[in-house]
Amino acid sequence: MTQSSLIIPAPPVVALPIEGSDQRFPVRRIYCIGRNYGKHVKEMGGDPREQPPIFFMKPADAAVPDGGAIAYPPGTKNLHHEIELVIALKSGGADVAPSAALDLAYGYAAGVDLTRRDLQNEAKDRGQPWDASKGFDASAPIGPIRPAHLCTALGGAITLSVNGEVRQDGLLADMIWDPAAIIAAVSRLWRLEAGDLIFTGTPDGVGPLVRGDEVAGDIAGVGSVRFRIA
Ligand code: MN
Repeated sequence: MTQSSLIIPAPPVVALPIEGSDQRFPVRRIYCIGRNYGKHVKEMGGDPREQPPIFFMKPADAAVPDGGAIAYPPGTKNLHHEIELVIALKSGGADVAPSAALDLAYGYAAGVDLTRRDLQNEAKDRGQPWDASKGFDASAPIGPIRPAHLCTALGGAITLSVNGEVRQDGLLADMIWDPAAIIAAVSRLWRLEAGDLIFTGTPDGVGPLVRGDEVAGDIAGVGSVRFRIA
């Protein structure tokens, strides 16, 4: 085949800010883990002993830098916040050993897995896919990525406040699968590559957001995420 030109301009690559740097992190894929904190599994009506963590994905361009406004998405009457640790990969692999998994991480960030909870509950009831409930536009606001060597903790507090009121208050150490186990598990199903992001699940306390809400997520030793619902 001869080299041919593109019929439309190549879609732009989403690239996220890196803390303390003018460089940015280009996003290839966004993997997500569900049901990774026992108390959240229970608040959703499940049993963590019977329902191990699960995988889903968001499109790469669902990632948006924090600091601005996010439009209340169409098609839902119950938009929920889920504060999560996000792993940003600088290299990849398949069948990665847990002992080597953290070597793949460029850094970590605080992100929010925005969820159309009403559509997710309908999808669960009907045995349908989660894409419309999880993978919508701007559904992955992410704070600045902190390089791994500058992260001072990976087991501390993970919190989310709405208009100054604490809604989620958990510990990364309460994850069912820790970050190394998550990277290893994802790599058994997909070949990971540099540029991949992994959302690692949310602690309990998820709840609705409405227009005008100011959302503030913080992860000790990692960073923060801030945005407003417009
Ligand atoms: Mn989530």
